[in-house]
Amino acid sequence: MIAIGGGGFIPARILRTFLKRANNKNIPIQAIGLSLYEDLGSYNLSTDDSPAIIGTQVIKTQWLHFGPSHATTSPLLGKNILIVDEVDDTRTTLAYAVQELSKDIEEEKRKFLQENPGCIVPETKFAVFVLHNKKKEKRMEFPDPSIIEEGRYYAARETPDRWLVYPWEANDIEEHTKKSLIQEQEELQ
Ligand code: 5GP
Repeated sequence: MIAIGGGGFIPARILRTFLKRANNKNIPIQAIGLSLYEDLGSYNLSTDDSPAIIGTQVIKTQWLHFGPSHATTSPLLGKNILIVDEVDDTRTTLAYAVQELSKDIEEEKRKFLQENPGCIVPETKFAVFVLHNKKKEKRMEFPDPSIIEEGRYYAARETPDRWLVYPWEANDIEEHTKKSLIQEQEELQ
Protein backbone atom coordinates (compact mmCIF):
# COMPACT_ATOMS: atom_id res chain seq x y z
CA MET A 1 0.00 0.00 0.00
CA ILE A 2 1.23 3.45 -0.80
CA ALA A 3 -0.35 6.49 0.74
CA ILE A 4 0.79 9.88 -0.45
CA GLY A 5 1.17 12.91 1.75
CA GLY A 6 2.28 13.65 5.29
CA GLY A 7 -0.49 11.59 6.88
CA GLY A 8 0.28 8.43 4.89
CA PHE A 9 2.50 5.46 5.69
CA ILE A 10 5.14 6.58 3.22
CA PRO A 11 6.05 10.27 3.41
CA ALA A 12 5.68 12.02 0.08
CA ARG A 13 9.30 13.20 0.18
CA ILE A 14 10.64 9.65 -0.22
CA LEU A 15 8.35 9.05 -3.18
CA ARG A 16 9.95 11.98 -4.97
CA THR A 17 11.25 11.14 -8.40
CA PHE A 18 14.18 13.53 -8.38
CA LEU A 19 17.13 14.62 -6.27
CA LYS A 20 17.58 18.30 -5.64
CA ARG A 21 20.88 19.94 -6.50
CA ALA A 22 21.64 23.41 -5.22
CA ASN A 23 21.76 25.95 -8.07
CA ASN A 24 21.47 23.25 -10.66
CA LYS A 25 18.99 21.10 -12.48
CA ASN A 26 17.32 18.38 -10.42
CA ILE A 27 18.52 14.83 -11.01
CA PRO A 28 15.60 12.66 -12.14
CA ILE A 29 15.08 9.23 -10.55
CA GLN A 30 13.48 6.50 -12.62
CA ALA A 31 12.28 3.21 -11.15
CA ILE A 32 12.65 0.03 -13.18
CA GLY A 33 11.37 -3.39 -12.14
CA LEU A 34 13.11 -6.61 -13.16
CA SER A 35 12.22 -10.18 -12.14
CA LEU A 36 14.79 -12.94 -12.29
CA TYR A 37 13.89 -16.52 -13.13
CA GLU A 38 16.22 -19.16 -11.82
CA ASP A 39 16.87 -21.62 -14.65
CA LEU A 40 20.17 -20.17 -15.56
CA GLY A 41 23.24 -21.27 -17.36
CA SER A 42 26.39 -19.23 -17.56
CA TYR A 43 26.55 -16.57 -20.26
CA ASN A 44 28.73 -13.59 -20.94
CA LEU A 45 26.70 -10.68 -22.31
CA SER A 46 29.70 -9.05 -23.92
CA THR A 47 30.76 -12.10 -25.96
CA ASP A 48 27.81 -14.50 -26.23
CA ASP A 49 24.82 -14.10 -28.45
CA SER A 50 22.61 -14.18 -25.40
CA PRO A 51 19.91 -11.49 -25.27
CA ALA A 52 17.10 -13.94 -26.04
CA ILE A 53 18.34 -16.25 -23.31
CA ILE A 54 18.68 -13.40 -20.86
CA GLY A 55 15.20 -12.34 -21.87
CA THR A 56 13.81 -15.67 -20.71
CA GLN A 57 15.57 -15.31 -17.36
CA VAL A 58 14.80 -11.72 -16.51
CA ILE A 59 11.62 -9.92 -17.36
CA LYS A 60 10.80 -6.24 -17.19
CA THR A 61 7.92 -5.53 -14.85
CA GLN A 62 8.40 -1.77 -15.03
CA TRP A 63 10.47 0.38 -17.35
CA LEU A 64 11.54 3.98 -17.93
CA HIS A 65 8.81 6.53 -18.10
CA PHE A 66 9.65 10.11 -19.01
CA GLY A 67 6.84 12.43 -18.02
CA PRO A 68 6.02 15.64 -19.87
CA SER A 69 8.45 17.66 -17.73
CA HIS A 70 11.48 15.79 -19.11
CA ALA A 71 10.01 15.01 -22.50
CA THR A 72 12.90 15.49 -24.85
CA THR A 73 13.59 13.25 -27.81
CA SER A 74 16.76 11.88 -26.23
CA PRO A 75 16.54 11.97 -22.43
CA LEU A 76 19.31 9.35 -21.97
CA LEU A 77 21.97 10.85 -24.24
CA GLY A 78 24.88 12.65 -22.63
CA LYS A 79 23.88 11.49 -19.15
CA ASN A 80 25.77 9.86 -16.31
CA ILE A 81 23.34 7.11 -15.32
CA LEU A 82 23.67 5.58 -11.86
CA ILE A 83 21.93 2.21 -11.56
CA VAL A 84 21.08 1.39 -7.95
CA ASP A 85 20.06 -1.96 -6.49
CA GLU A 86 20.18 -3.43 -3.02
CA VAL A 87 22.29 -6.49 -3.82
CA ASP A 88 24.53 -7.81 -6.57
CA ASP A 89 24.26 -11.58 -6.28
CA THR A 90 24.83 -13.40 -9.60
CA ARG A 91 24.85 -10.00 -11.44
CA THR A 92 22.21 -11.27 -13.89
CA THR A 93 19.70 -8.54 -13.05
CA LEU A 94 22.19 -5.67 -13.17
CA ALA A 95 23.73 -6.95 -16.43
CA TYR A 96 20.28 -7.18 -17.94
CA ALA A 97 19.46 -3.63 -16.78
CA VAL A 98 22.61 -2.31 -18.48
CA GLN A 99 21.88 -4.34 -21.61
CA GLU A 100 18.31 -3.07 -21.92
CA LEU A 101 19.19 0.54 -21.11
CA SER A 102 21.93 0.35 -23.76
CA LYS A 103 19.31 -0.68 -26.32
CA ASP A 104 17.23 2.39 -25.47
CA ILE A 105 20.35 4.56 -25.78
CA GLU A 106 21.16 3.04 -29.19
CA GLU A 107 17.63 3.88 -30.34
CA GLU A 108 18.01 7.46 -29.08
CA LYS A 109 21.38 7.74 -30.88
CA ARG A 110 19.77 6.56 -34.11
CA LYS A 111 17.03 9.21 -33.85
CA PHE A 112 19.51 11.90 -32.82
CA LEU A 113 21.68 11.25 -35.90
CA GLN A 114 18.62 11.22 -38.11
CA GLU A 115 17.66 14.67 -36.80
CA ASN A 116 21.23 16.01 -36.53
CA PRO A 117 23.22 14.33 -39.30
CA GLY A 118 26.98 14.49 -38.82
CA CYS A 119 26.75 15.77 -35.22
CA ILE A 120 28.67 14.17 -32.37
CA VAL A 121 26.35 12.06 -30.24
CA PRO A 122 26.64 13.04 -26.55
CA GLU A 123 28.20 10.16 -24.62
CA THR A 124 26.20 8.34 -21.94
CA LYS A 125 28.03 6.61 -19.10
CA PHE A 126 26.79 4.01 -16.63
CA ALA A 127 27.76 3.58 -13.02
CA VAL A 128 26.38 0.97 -10.62
CA PHE A 129 25.80 1.24 -6.89
CA VAL A 130 24.70 -1.61 -4.63
CA LEU A 131 24.39 -1.84 -0.87
CA HIS A 132 25.82 -5.37 -0.88
CA ASN A 133 28.02 -7.17 -3.32
CA LYS A 134 28.25 -10.90 -2.66
CA LYS A 135 31.81 -12.06 -3.05
CA LYS A 136 31.41 -14.91 -5.52
CA GLU A 137 31.97 -15.79 -9.13
CA LYS A 138 29.35 -13.85 -11.09
CA ARG A 139 27.13 -15.55 -13.63
CA MET A 140 27.05 -12.46 -15.86
CA GLU A 141 29.46 -9.69 -16.73
CA PHE A 142 28.31 -6.15 -17.48
CA PRO A 143 27.89 -5.71 -21.24
CA ASP A 144 29.72 -2.39 -20.79
CA PRO A 145 33.11 -3.42 -19.28
CA SER A 146 34.08 0.21 -18.63
CA ILE A 147 31.80 0.16 -15.56
CA ILE A 148 34.33 -2.05 -13.79
CA GLU A 149 37.45 -1.00 -15.70
CA GLU A 150 36.93 2.71 -15.08
CA GLY A 151 35.93 2.26 -11.44
CA ARG A 152 32.24 3.12 -11.78
CA TYR A 153 31.05 0.12 -9.75
CA TYR A 154 30.41 0.89 -6.09
CA ALA A 155 29.40 -1.53 -3.32
CA ALA A 156 28.81 -0.17 0.16
CA ARG A 157 29.64 -3.63 1.61
CA GLU A 158 31.30 -6.77 0.30
CA THR A 159 29.57 -9.78 1.88
CA PRO A 160 29.95 -13.57 1.87
CA ASP A 161 27.61 -15.54 -0.40
CA ARG A 162 24.70 -15.79 2.03
CA TRP A 163 21.04 -14.81 1.82
CA LEU A 164 20.50 -11.30 3.16
CA VAL A 165 17.20 -10.28 4.71
CA TYR A 166 16.47 -6.57 4.45
CA PRO A 167 14.34 -4.74 7.02
CA TRP A 168 11.96 -3.49 4.33
CA GLU A 169 11.05 -7.11 3.48
CA ALA A 170 10.29 -8.13 7.07
CA ASN A 171 6.71 -8.90 8.04
CA ASP A 172 7.57 -8.42 11.68
CA ILE A 173 10.23 -5.73 12.06
CA GLU A 174 10.73 -6.39 15.80
CA GLU A 175 11.41 -10.08 15.16
CA HIS A 176 13.71 -9.08 12.31
CA THR A 177 15.67 -6.69 14.56
CA LYS A 178 15.96 -9.35 17.27
CA LYS A 179 17.33 -11.91 14.81
CA SER A 180 19.79 -9.49 13.29
CA LEU A 181 21.12 -8.55 16.76
CA ILE A 182 21.57 -12.24 17.62
CA GLN A 183 23.42 -12.80 14.35
CA GLU A 184 25.62 -9.77 15.01
CA GLN A 185 26.52 -11.12 18.47
CA GLU A 186 27.30 -14.56 17.02
CA GLU A 187 29.58 -13.03 14.42
CA LEU A 188 31.48 -11.11 17.11
CA GLN A 189 32.19 -14.30 19.12
P1 5GP B 1 21.15 -11.28 -9.20
O1 5GP B 1 20.48 -11.00 -10.51
O2 5GP B 1 22.37 -10.42 -8.94
O3 5GP B 1 21.42 -12.75 -9.01
O4 5GP B 1 20.12 -10.97 -8.08
C1 5GP B 1 19.61 -9.73 -7.94
C2 5GP B 1 18.27 -9.75 -7.31
O5 5GP B 1 17.97 -10.97 -6.58
C3 5GP B 1 18.27 -8.65 -6.30
O6 5GP B 1 17.86 -7.45 -6.88
C4 5GP B 1 17.34 -9.19 -5.23
O7 5GP B 1 16.02 -8.86 -5.59
C5 5GP B 1 17.49 -10.69 -5.30
N1 5GP B 1 18.47 -11.17 -4.31
C6 5GP B 1 19.64 -11.79 -4.56
N2 5GP B 1 20.28 -12.11 -3.42
C7 5GP B 1 19.50 -11.68 -2.43
C8 5GP B 1 19.63 -11.73 -0.98
O8 5GP B 1 20.59 -12.21 -0.39
N3 5GP B 1 18.61 -11.17 -0.27
C9 5GP B 1 17.53 -10.61 -0.87
N4 5GP B 1 16.60 -10.10 -0.07
N5 5GP B 1 17.36 -10.53 -2.22
C10 5GP B 1 18.35 -11.07 -2.99
